Order: sequence, then C-alpha cells, then structure tokens
Amino acid sequence: MSQPATAEERRGTRARVLIVEDEADIRELVRYNLEREGFAVEEAADGPVALEKLRRRPPDLVVLDLMLPGMPGLEICRQIRQTRETAQLPILILTAKGTEVDKVLGLEMGADDYVVKPFSPREVVARIKALLRRANASSAAESAGTYERGRLKIDFGSYQVLVDGVPRDLALREFELLKFFVQHPLRVYTREQLLDMVWGRDTFVEPRTVDVHVRRLRQHIERDDANPEMILTVRSVGYRFNPEALG
Ligand code: CA
Repeated sequence: MSQPATAEERRGTRARVLIVEDEADIRELVRYNLEREGFAVEEAADGPVALEKLRRRPPDLVVLDLMLPGMPGLEICRQIRQTRETAQLPILILTAKGTEVDKVLGLEMGADDYVVKPFSPREVVARIKALLRRANASSAAESAGTYERGRLKIDFGSYQVLVDGVPRDLALREFELLKFFVQHPLRVYTREQLLDMVWGRDTFVEPRTVDVHVRRLRQHIERDDANPEMILTVRSVGYRFNPEALG
C-alpha cells in the first residue's frame, strides 16, 4: 500500500486523531489499533506538547488521558473548549476506574465521551468512530441547511421551525439557541458557554438571560415545557440537547 504523496492528500482521506497519554504502552496500543483502521495518529505525552500540537494544527478528535504529569487532563480539556478553533473538537476521555463520571462529562471538562481503563482497543476505536460520525452529521446538516429528526424540522436558511408539522414563531435568539443545541447534541453546556457560543463573547449579557431563552424555547418546542424532554437541565451545570426525545 503506497502512502499518499502530500499532507493535503492525507488530510483529505484520513481522519486525524491526537492521543494525549503519558504511558507509552497505551499510546502505542491506541495508535496501532487506529492506524489499522486507517486513521492518521499523532501523539503527545504531556499537556504542553498536546496544546502546542492543537494550536499548530487541530486534529479531528482528541483522545485524552486524565492522569498526566504536570498539567492534568482536566485542564487540557478546559483549554481546548476555551479556544475558539477547538471549542467543538470531539474529546474522548481515558479515565481510571473510580473517577467521578459526572465530573468527567460535566461542563468544567466538556468531554464528549469516556472509556474506563483498562479498556479494550476495539471499544476505543468504536467510540471514536461514533464521535466522528456525530461531528460529521452536524456539519453535514449545517451545510445542507436543514435539520430533520422525528418531530422537529428546521430550515436554517429561512429560519423556519416546524414541530409536529406546525410552524413555530421563534425570536431570532431563540432560533440561534435551538440551532446551537441541535448542532451540538448530548454534550452539556454551561450558561457561560452558551452565552459565548450563541450570543458572542463580547456581549454583556447575564448568564440568567440563557435561562429566560431556554424557558421560551421550551414553550415553543416541548410537548410539556414543565417536563422538558429535548432541552434538559443538568443540575448545577447547565443544559444539554437530547435528540433521542424527538423519536
Ligand atoms: Ca496517565
């Protein structure tokens, strides 16, 4: 099998994964299994190297160990989310047994999924593929200009929202919030993050504003806005969108 001639060629055909892990054996294990599946793999043994690689050329996905010397994985995760270029980058956490899973997937960290060590490489590869499929589906829907799932249909170009076939009259900011949620399903976002992503970093709006807009949005799209199924409150963290509720 011949190698693609240029970096551009490789970029076009192979998804790139950055493995951040201080244990060489584990890096090697994950790398071996990913390369066998056609992924391009880069490695970093610590936080500073990882952040430098992310800054230079963001990969398509990051596999991130939590227990790293020096800078903890949690801090790397936070920095990835805070940087606009990598804010949406899928992150798969490698965690030791006994780590609080809520905290791992919670907002401070903003991870997308996790596997517990010792893991099966096959499991890691399957999770990575699922995360990349999800990420690709979001960007495909965006470029197609529509979102359609179960009861909900959105036309991003004409700002039209249909729930159970009935047009809903959303204010612009409610529409933008809904658009953000459907394009970033399952992950939990804090009010501050939603303000950054939907309102823009430089606006001076209180985090409570997000609650007001979520409440109005629920009135438009939920069957029962007192018992929301789509836009879920994650206590003392923020909100997440649950596409499963759409059917
Ligand atoms: Ca480690």
